[in-house]
Amino acid sequence: MTYGGMDEMDNRPGAHPIEPGEFPHGLRCMDCDEPLGDGDTYSKRLVGFMLDDPVVELVCVPCAMCGDEQTG
Ligand SMILES: [Zn+2]
Repeated sequence: MTYGGMDEMDNRPGAHPIEPGEFPHGLRCMDCDEPLGDGDTYSKRLVGFMLDDPVVELVCVPCAMCGDEQTG
């Protein structure tokens, strides 16, 4: 399976700084429910594709690093 044009997609894991006002209602890690705010960093985890669109979860950086090792 191959994908074309992945270079432009911003769905790679990594630290993304939260810009002031980017999440006016706040942001929580979808894994550990850690609240994140201005000045924190979040990461994206690619969970699959909906049709041709990548589906990502917004998680905190530690969760993005440890992946699916934690279960339960
Ligand atoms: Zn987390």
